[in-house]
Amino acid sequence: MSRPSDLPSEFELIARYFAPLATHEGARGLADDVAVLAPAPGKAHVLTVDTIVEGVHYLPEDPPQLVARKLLRVNLSDLAAKGARPVGYLLAASFGKSVTADWLAAFASGLAADQETYGLSLLGGDTTANPGPTTLSVTVIGEAEERTVVRRSGAKPGEGIYVSGTLGDAALGLRAIRGELSRLETSDREFLAGRFRLPEPRLALGQALLGVASATIDISDGLIADLGHVCQESAVRAEVALEDVPLSAAARRALAVDPALRDDVLGGGDDYEILFTASPNAERALTEAAMRARLAFSRIGTIREGAGIEVTDRAGRPVAVKHAGFRHF
Ligand SMILES: [Mg+2]
Repeated sequence: MSRPSDLPSEFELIARYFAPLATHEGARGLADDVAVLAPAPGKAHVLTVDTIVEGVHYLPEDPPQLVARKLLRVNLSDLAAKGARPVGYLLAASFGKSVTADWLAAFASGLAADQETYGLSLLGGDTTANPGPTTLSVTVIGEAEERTVVRRSGAKPGEGIYVSGTLGDAALGLRAIRGELSRLETSDREFLAGRFRLPEPRLALGQALLGVASATIDISDGLIADLGHVCQESAVRAEVALEDVPLSAAARRALAVDPALRDDVLGGGDDYEILFTASPNAERALTEAAMRARLAFSRIGTIREGAGIEVTDRAGRPVAVKHAGFRHF
């Protein structure tokens, strides 16, 4: 296939930009057909894949370092929710016509930075060129004890529903990037945009919750959509108190200006916080987990028998939820 712009040949491109990222010995320096990986004794591999498309998940003018780091982080967030430790990743990249050698160098430097931060290695991959938008797919491989990997299906009536950090920042951040929220201070807009551009996978919390949480999921599609997955898989109903949903100071100020932005908190995606359920007896263990992970969490509701999600306001009145997550199809 013809190559876009000033990119070198595929082999040179791999040697220059990607081989230095293959730090795991199982990656064989990207010089073989395959990578070879053995789990540590007693451990299982935990796998997840995510794809981002230029023009859909990021814009051609976005800094390539950030594109690379977010690509890794959205995958790491899935590992975090399952309490797994990152090991490595495979990258399938189809570079579109806007990709230049400079873009690629910056993209690779973003991968290198987060490999360092999260302790993982490139294990292999595939690169192609195409005349359309760039498509980047990462498969992350983590490691966990098989019997401790928490599922979505373990929530039981009477348990609390908890979320880490604050919700809605990323959805509001995307608005800020698009030039909305002009009545907010610049510092608030920058904080929110930063939460959209560079999520923080909650790996330490996910690991600390092992043995404590009964069901876990990372919030990528929005609180209501992802809590809906837990309810569906666990065959339970969720009651959520709107006023208990944790907000950052910046999000609080955004909602004070426009209360309709509440829908971004409940339905907007890209939070990459962890939602989990736990028994009321687990309160002390949860507090210890949060201290170990150095991350706050909030109780937002209760699991009940039945199906569906009910959100109520301060007066106990049901709140209509506009959109339930981002839909591609
Ligand atoms: Mg997920």
